[in-house]
Amino acid sequence: MQDSHINNVIKILRRELAVGTMPIVSHLAADQRDPFVILISTLLSLRTKDEVTAVATEKLFGLAATPQEMLQIPLTKIAKTIYPVGFYRVKADTIHHVCRELIARFSSQVPDNLDDLLSIKGVGRKTANLVIALAYGKDAICVDIHVHRISNRLGYVQTNMPEKTEYALREKLPRRHWIIYNTIMVAFGRKTCKPVSPLCSQCPVLKYCDRVGIARSR
Ligand code: SF4
Repeated sequence: MQDSHINNVIKILRRELAVGTMPIVSHLAADQRDPFVILISTLLSLRTKDEVTAVATEKLFGLAATPQEMLQIPLTKIAKTIYPVGFYRVKADTIHHVCRELIARFSSQVPDNLDDLLSIKGVGRKTANLVIALAYGKDAICVDIHVHRISNRLGYVQTNMPEKTEYALREKLPRRHWIIYNTIMVAFGRKTCKPVSPLCSQCPVLKYCDRVGIARSR
């Protein structure tokens, strides 16, 4: 794909983005920009279906709205509340740890920069970038498996792991697209550019795509 075509690709995919197809954390961010909610729901969403994350987030924040309140809830109750979120016991632990860190090191506030967020055990690049972009509206590119896969299939980047995709995108993706890029690509990846056998015959950006590594499509 020619680099200059990325603007058209994003314009087209943005038009396709319906509220119902938005990833859960983007949806939550559209409703309210509470960084603590965004951070915790992003942690819950890892390896978990959006429907499950949505219910777990609502139930959990029905019990506690701040790091202090969250720490008052016993771990077993948090685990039970967020079940069947993937790795719910580990995530309950992580939530308590994150809350302790926020209180002890960040005056109970969620940091708005990568270095501070990454200094909290349990917060990875994907989570940190999503919080910066969606909770604070600051330029950050959250690269998950969809963003990594689609950026490479298009031929926009040539990388073999998500972290390298993030660095490559930082180099060439116009900054005005950084915040929305994840939301667009996750929705598109679930609906059309699926992991196995993408729906290329129905793809609205087919004419721009190099279809790198596509052996089978529909
Ligand atoms: Fe994905 Fe196929 Fe569309 Fe390329 S043409 S973006 S591989 S669905």
